[in-house]
Amino acid sequence: MNTAPGQSIQKKGREIFARMKGATPRLFSRKNLMGRVLDWSMRQEALKIQLFRLIDVLPVLADPRALAEHVDDYLAHAASSTILRLCLAAGLKLPALLAFAARQGVRQMAGNFILAPDSAAAIPKLRQMREHFLTFTADILGETVLSEKEAAQYQQRYLGLIEALADASQSWPDIEQLDSDGRGSIPKVNVSVKISALYSQIQPAAPEDAIQHLSERLRPILKLAKERGVFINFDMEHHGLKDLTLELFKRMLGEPDASAHLGIAVQAYLRDAARDLRELIQWASQHHRRVTVRLVKGAYWDTETILARQRDWPVPVFGHKNETDASYEELASMMLENPETIECAFATHNVRSMAACIARAEALSRHPRSYEIQMLYGMAEPIKQALIQMGHRVREYCPIGEILPGMSYLVRRLLENTSNEGFLRATFGEAVPVEELLADPRERQSMKSMVLPEPPFRNEPHTDFTRAEMRGRMERALQTVRKQLGGSYPLLIGEREVRPGRVQSSINPAKPSEVVGVVSQGGVKEADAAIAEAKAAFPRWSRMDAGTRAAILERTAELIRAARFELAALEGFETGKTWSEADADVAEAIDFCRYYAGEMRRISSSVYEVPGELNIHHYTARGIAVIIAPWNFPLAILCGMTAAALVAGNCAIMKPSAQSAVIGARLARLFREAGVPPGAIQFLSGPGSSVGAYMVEHPDVAVIAFTGSKEVGLRIWEAAGRTKPGQLQLKKVICEMGGKNAIIVDADADLDEAVPAIVASAFGYQGQKCSAASRLIVLQPVYERVLERLVEAASSLRVGPPDDPANSVGPVIDSAAFDRIRASIEAAKGYARMAFSGTAPEGAYFIGPTIFCDVPADSALAQEEIFGPVLAVIRARDLDEALKIANGTEFALTGGFFSRSPRNIERVKREFEVGNLYINRGITGALVARHPFGGGRMSGGGTKAGGRDYLLNFLVPRVVTENLMRRGFVSGPEES
Ligand code: NAD
Repeated sequence: MNTAPGQSIQKKGREIFARMKGATPRLFSRKNLMGRVLDWSMRQEALKIQLFRLIDVLPVLADPRALAEHVDDYLAHAASSTILRLCLAAGLKLPALLAFAARQGVRQMAGNFILAPDSAAAIPKLRQMREHFLTFTADILGETVLSEKEAAQYQQRYLGLIEALADASQSWPDIEQLDSDGRGSIPKVNVSVKISALYSQIQPAAPEDAIQHLSERLRPILKLAKERGVFINFDMEHHGLKDLTLELFKRMLGEPDASAHLGIAVQAYLRDAARDLRELIQWASQHHRRVTVRLVKGAYWDTETILARQRDWPVPVFGHKNETDASYEELASMMLENPETIECAFATHNVRSMAACIARAEALSRHPRSYEIQMLYGMAEPIKQALIQMGHRVREYCPIGEILPGMSYLVRRLLENTSNEGFLRATFGEAVPVEELLADPRERQSMKSMVLPEPPFRNEPHTDFTRAEMRGRMERALQTVRKQLGGSYPLLIGEREVRPGRVQSSINPAKPSEVVGVVSQGGVKEADAAIAEAKAAFPRWSRMDAGTRAAILERTAELIRAARFELAALEGFETGKTWSEADADVAEAIDFCRYYAGEMRRISSSVYEVPGELNIHHYTARGIAVIIAPWNFPLAILCGMTAAALVAGNCAIMKPSAQSAVIGARLARLFREAGVPPGAIQFLSGPGSSVGAYMVEHPDVAVIAFTGSKEVGLRIWEAAGRTKPGQLQLKKVICEMGGKNAIIVDADADLDEAVPAIVASAFGYQGQKCSAASRLIVLQPVYERVLERLVEAASSLRVGPPDDPANSVGPVIDSAAFDRIRASIEAAKGYARMAFSGTAPEGAYFIGPTIFCDVPADSALAQEEIFGPVLAVIRARDLDEALKIANGTEFALTGGFFSRSPRNIERVKREFEVGNLYINRGITGALVARHPFGGGRMSGGGTKAGGRDYLLNFLVPRVVTENLMRRGFVSGPEES
């Protein structure tokens, strides 16, 4: 690909600068508040972050006292400017005045970037812009779309905007520079559409479903646009939506009713951008279409980088700014070289980038208006003026909307204008010499690629189901597993496969007529046999070098990884998990094996030496461990408890839950395949109340690793405490039980973030996670709004069989759970108001998401674990009351807090008594090593699965002290 020669770019760039005549954009002028804010924040990075965080929260702070507290919390330590400090000090004494000033300030700042609150107010401004030879694309700002109601409202707003602008444009005179492109006239009205705003249930694994729903919402928009001669651009958002948006765009272009004037954005910072553009050009040429491409650099660099690093996925964006700039020039050339298929819109504030585009267009003898330059409203006015003078068509991207929903847009713009690597800051904030500003990006050194610390443990990445290849693997796995349904699974006792004649069928809760597997059921006889085998195997297994056992676990992890998709598919059939929930469970099982292997190596022995004496601190295994697991993380929990027992040198007898026994049987075989000897890992399914209870009490059993309900856990705890004749040691019980987990929503919380996280925490896996949110405690000022958005979001969830990835809520585990949960719901109707009850398919164990509001804090609904998709919403006067309610149960497992108040966050960290507390995020999905998991009180013994202390529960510490002196002589280092 050719780009324009350096000299012509330099010449063009200098011409633009010369025409700017040293003018400064309004934003950077220190005469106004915005300029001062930018100036302060550019001089001090710490202040910048605090200031922008404060700005983000300001519009929701109605109470002057709360506002003063926020100002104090965010700025008191960060501000070094004397003026700022004086203003602050004065303001804090007069909160009402401070509140007024702050609100005015934010309004003024937002006014810099947001054209108008609605289309009526926008129209006169747009007309005025046109008089100054500036045209526009209008975009609607809004809250993140969380429900179908909100998505439908968005659609209506777009329709309204198109009508209003099209009507108004009738009276706008033609302006050659704006309304023609060298081939003919172009639409006067140009609207940018955010795809994610049109459907609230986009699932990464179900792009077809998303395309279908999005098409339905887009069709009326595109039809109206066609009738009214309006141009529609598909904006590009996060990378996860990119392939979907491109596919949707192509499909919509093919529809007869769609506007002829359609465009799409391409982000130059994406590593895939060149390939995507090439494919789009090919597609357009095959279909004889001409499409507009708006080339942008990309506005979500930090988010893309951080999220990819958090998930251990390949980072989709270039690491350095100069790589993005170089990519931009290459993509621009590609666009200009394909005039039959691509209409070019170059969106940039970087003079070098636009000079490169213009120079390349000239070299290809393109008509100067066969392409356009786009810039954001409120920014870089001198550059816009220079380009207008040069005869270019300049289009402003004009957001329309209210301030509150526009805050994330405002903050993105503030960051962009003050970014260390930003062109605008360099040009107008720091007066960097023109030669540097115009330097070839390929030859420029770029400063920052985000330096993120390497985590001490790398979690197994979850599968990225936005990738077609991964979806294909899952679909094939579902087919394979479907063929294996109904198989029979014997007990594994020593070397033998045992079929005692009693069986239990494990069924698919989404289709109860479907038998997933028929599993043999052990009784006392088989338990005795297994215990005898374990006893015989123990000396060898426990004395094996810890490193060898760790290596066997690592091999197990490999085997699980190799069967990853099939195991996840099996979880879908046996336990009703959606693709991503099942995938996460399998990933966690892999993590447990690898993590405990590493931990065992780390702790296996330590030495304390003094002259003449050697002290070795090490651990030995306890003996026989019975592993009693629940069904809700069918692979991970069973695998984690077993892996810990094994790597520590104990012999494990696995007793899975009846509802997930097929997965248990698969796992036992994987441990054996990896090299765990038969006596060290045995599979003994059977009724918990008989065979489970029997093993708990058996005098030869040393460890009981249990995860499950409080009722069973307490019974086990008590039984294990009674010493039996012949018992030689105290039994160790690792006991992890239920929860009644609460999320508190503060008055200043960001609801765009809080509501989806609450929905995922309460209704993910049908609320059947021990960590699930079952209580939502909302502070009075936001109670109604939270409830409204929550109900709308819950009503948009799709309930259905989990093998269809478009469904996000599957069935509850079995008929007993179904009846129990329904009975709890019926009972709750007597004392709480049902705010929402979701519909669900009949004929299986589906229960729609259910929300009760105004729930008394001491009622059964707010105190007892229901373990289903039922959320109790409780009102709290203030944070004191919220914490009292949150801590007012017998459980203490997980908890969450949504707030933007630094002091409240600190307080909640101290006072919310739970094992795992999550601030400003969902409360499920703990990762091994990163979030060691487990609670206190009646939620468990505080053993923290996946944490550094966990293995110690399976071990007995020993110290061997050896006197090294022989007749006054010690062997030691030679004296030199
Ligand atoms: P459950 O207590 O009914 O069963 C757990 C296991 O105990 C099963 O294998 C069962 O067969 C066995 N069992 C039952 N009675 C027994 C007895 N008398 N003696 C010995 N074993 C017996 O729980 P469940 O329905 O499988 O799982 C859901 C529960 O697990 C919920 O309460 C949930 O909160 C809890 N859980 C806790 C955690 C945690 O880490 N704290 C994690 C997952 C699940």
